[in-house]
Amino acid sequence: MTTEPFVLGVDLDGVCGDYIAALRAVLADERGVAPESLGPADSWELTEWGLDRAGFDRLHRSAVLDHRIFANMPMVEGCADVLWRLSDAGVWIRIITHRLFGNWGHQVAVADTVAWLDSRGIPYRDLCFLGAKPQVEAQAYVDDGPHNVEALRASGNEVIVFDQPYNRDLPGPRAMSWLDVEHLVTELAAARGLALQRQLPGLDDPRARIGRRLDRSGPPA
Ligand SMILES: [Mg+2]
Repeated sequence: MTTEPFVLGVDLDGVCGDYIAALRAVLADERGVAPESLGPADSWELTEWGLDRAGFDRLHRSAVLDHRIFANMPMVEGCADVLWRLSDAGVWIRIITHRLFGNWGHQVAVADTVAWLDSRGIPYRDLCFLGAKPQVEAQAYVDDGPHNVEALRASGNEVIVFDQPYNRDLPGPRAMSWLDVEHLVTELAAARGLALQRQLPGLDDPRARIGRRLDRSGPPA
């Protein structure tokens, strides 16, 4: 058995937070149309929504600075519950994000990210805001971005692909949900000699811990 912690590097956008849903709401609002009328978003650049590179950059900037999506984007189902179970079982959660995109809005990006993590009850021990380099000394990573997955794997890292339409040509391991992440991480940890300890059910609602500590009623349902 090893005494080293099993560090799991967890990406935010497209993994913990539903970035596409947040952008969809902003763009639909700007165009005065229903969000669903934009249709599916299958490409990384969102060309299906009539955006070119400059249009995407402008939308992202407005979404972050004007619409504050880093503070209010929907959480991907199961994220907080699974991360609490993994954390309680001994996995070290290291959040990794590339949100300092461009030389603007860093205060909003960082402050809104931290507020969002607390409001959703997501546990973590480290929070890394990275530039181009995707690697932060974790035993395994969960990411949706094709360029990040490829760069991490090229340097020998174990990466779970979090399923999104724009990453389906990448080989697995692939998680279709957060429950899949839990199973895959448990297997990877066991393969490295770390037996994860499962929490007994019904004793505590872990997602409420952050809210209790902050003297609030807890994370939103
Ligand atoms: Mg991502």
